[in-house]
Amino acid sequence: MQVTENKPVAIIGGAYLAICSVKESINKSIAGIFGLSLAVELRSKGYPVTVFDRNAYDKTGYDPESEDAQAASVDLNKILRASYGTELHYQRLALESRQAWVACDKERGISERNDQDDRRLFVNGGMLRVQPTDRLGELEKETLASMERDGLRDTQFVKSSPEDRHRAESLGWKSKLLDFEIPDTEPGQTYDAVLDSLAGFVRCSNACAYWHKIAVAKGVVFRFGKEGAVESLVKAPSTLEPGKEKVTGIRSEDGALHVVDTVVAAGSFSTQVLPNLSYHLESSAGSVATLKIDINQTELWDKYSPGKFPVITWKATPRDKAGKDTGSIYVLPRTPEGYLKIGYRGIKFTNFQPAPEGTPFTQDGKWSVPLSADQCKTLPEPAIQAITEFVSIFLPEFEGVPFSSTKLCWYTDSLDNSFVIDYVPDYAEKSVFVCTGGSGHGAKFLPVLGKHAADIFENGDKSTTYMRPFWQWRPDAPRRNGLEEGPGGPRDISHASFL
Ligand SMILES: Cc1cc2nc3c(=O)[nH]c(=O)nc-3n(C[C@H](O)[C@H](O)[C@H](O)COP(=O)(O)OP(=O)(O)OC[C@H]3O[C@@H](n4cnc5c(N)ncnc54)[C@H](O)[C@@H]3O)c2cc1C
Repeated sequence: MQVTENKPVAIIGGAYLAICSVKESINKSIAGIFGLSLAVELRSKGYPVTVFDRNAYDKTGYDPESEDAQAASVDLNKILRASYGTELHYQRLALESRQAWVACDKERGISERNDQDDRRLFVNGGMLRVQPTDRLGELEKETLASMERDGLRDTQFVKSSPEDRHRAESLGWKSKLLDFEIPDTEPGQTYDAVLDSLAGFVRCSNACAYWHKIAVAKGVVFRFGKEGAVESLVKAPSTLEPGKEKVTGIRSEDGALHVVDTVVAAGSFSTQVLPNLSYHLESSAGSVATLKIDINQTELWDKYSPGKFPVITWKATPRDKAGKDTGSIYVLPRTPEGYLKIGYRGIKFTNFQPAPEGTPFTQDGKWSVPLSADQCKTLPEPAIQAITEFVSIFLPEFEGVPFSSTKLCWYTDSLDNSFVIDYVPDYAEKSVFVCTGGSGHGAKFLPVLGKHAADIFENGDKSTTYMRPFWQWRPDAPRRNGLEEGPGGPRDISHASFL
């Protein structure tokens, strides 16, 4: 694509994943992780880029404790892992991204040895994948085979393997191969587990704030708050493709009309910005709770520090007969402020509401969209129960301790758990591009997502990124990944009880 001065791009969503481009004087995007990543890359290629986001990140600095911040990217931390079962393409993308995180911290003059202030964006503290039983599950065997295939098997340590334990000891990882007792076993058995020494976590909000700074330095323009809130996309009949409409720009809540090429990267709100996404995406809620450790509780402070405690994920139940792996529950090491964050994704709750007239795809006239920020502060009973059980097994000192906070955090699930990054063929003249569908695993890709997405933005089918086939618009993909359930399904939050 020829880049000219009058072909600006606007991205809707500036936490990670949103773009839109403006044709006269402004290009627009949204400022989540996807949006930020793409904004930086497009600006580096010479596009004038404006990011539109309704959250006032210029005031909050992406602080996860700021009231009403409804963005998956605005969070203390997220897991970085390259373990992806048989999905080698995501394994490779995660490794590419991992390298970029390490390089980014190095550029900022921070290394593992030189990080007294906890400023690293990526902390390579390892991740313990705890199995449902005392044996390795099927998904785990697939992951180990994929690691073997890519020459990475020696970075993984199986707890039940004497050889792996020995290797872990010689490499300084053994103290993180933790034993957890399986309740009600006599004599007491422990869960098998695999320690992944490539994994760890990223400090998500800090990373967004850092990318925002880079974007500003490169000349990306940001509009936040009311003037960044996109009310609607503006459309007109196409003269080049008769019978089709094209998106000509966006209207923001302050009433201004921006004539731009548009990128939608609005995370779990993307379907509401562009209802053509309604078949492809569904918003669902993950349950998050925190426990607080006071710095004076020296034993706990030390035990749960990133240096001593790995990320732990636990698949509470084995793969079912239909071959489906159900969601897991996880905890991250304590943050510099003392928060232990626990996440439950065993049930990703849906919130079905009447869809606006004309929405291309609905289930019984409804679609699942995020609840308001106020309604997201309490967790449904099944989530509380699962987290309570998890705490009693994995964080025993906190049994009975009240949570410091609870929150529903919204996923943007796609039909197959892969992102959706492409032009929307329903509109003429490649006038709207989408960069969304993070499906619960997009945060780790912040440093490299923009590069792959910008390749698709510029070259479409001719792009060379190996992710192109997985991210393209896929109208024929069957509605799976839970999106087939619809209102009244087992995850419908209107049927869930609250304590
Ligand atoms: C509970 C949970 C746990 C997760 N855990 C992990 C993990 O461990 N590892 C990992 O890699 N990933 C994880 N993810 C996924 C990751 O967080 C997301 O893939 C990523 O943050 C998505 O970024 P985004 O930019 O697409 O969306 P968001 O971060 O949601 O950003 C969208 C932006 O769009 C803006 N916006 C929306 N509507 C409008 C509008 N009309 N006008 C203007 N602006 C608008 C919002 O204000 C927001 O800033 C998790 C997600 C969840 C929900």
